Amino acid sequence: MRHLPKVLIVEDESSIAELISVNLRHNGMTPIWAEDGESAQREIDAVLPDVILLDWMLPDQSGVIWARKWRNDARTKSVPILMLTAKSAENDKVTGLDAGADDYITKPFSTQELLARIRAVLRRRTPEQATDSVTIGCLHLDGATHRVTVLDAPIKIGPTEFKLLNFLMHHSERVHTRSQLLDKVWGDHVFIEERTVDVHVKRLREALGVAGMMVETVRGTGYRLTGQVQLEAITQPR
Ligand code: CA
Repeated sequence: MRHLPKVLIVEDESSIAELISVNLRHNGMTPIWAEDGESAQREIDAVLPDVILLDWMLPDQSGVIWARKWRNDARTKSVPILMLTAKSAENDKVTGLDAGADDYITKPFSTQELLARIRAVLRRRTPEQATDSVTIGCLHLDGATHRVTVLDAPIKIGPTEFKLLNFLMHHSERVHTRSQLLDKVWGDHVFIEERTVDVHVKRLREALGVAGMMVETVRGTGYRLTGQVQLEAITQPR
């Protein structure tokens, strides 16, 4: 039997939750409704969903707080999170993405758009990723164990940043446009804004610490990972 994707809807407005549920069911998905973050946590503890639709404005804590929590939890860190938000200001979108959301959708949205985005994040769960190891300068990535070290010290890196680094390291010294990166790393970029790439590059650089400078911005074009940086600058203790 085909696996029906389980979609956890974290939304306090029952009319919206009901509308989404009906549409998900009609499209071969299994909706689970939680009206606040605490109930959502109980659902997650019981059965891990395939994707989480997370409302920004929740009665207990902001959806952003929950997104950050689930992104940092080993059990939920690779579950895609799609934030539902009535806010459309750029800062709010960036805050949501920084908290670990994979995408956001602004209310009011059409059910077709929502379904398309859910399918996109589900597809993105299984992108083609090299699983061999690669070393460039002081940077080492192990594709099988998902470990990254800088100067032999392991670093903490999020799942999207890992995928991005994996691609950049396997295609180093070349410049990749944002659109190419969306295509190769995210897998389906129809509904993702190019700004998303910048957010993840910023997070990747922060995760890499001193090796962050190996990820270069090529003005007007895109990004490149290079081993041709001043290695002395990296290896010299400050
Ligand atoms: Ca709400």
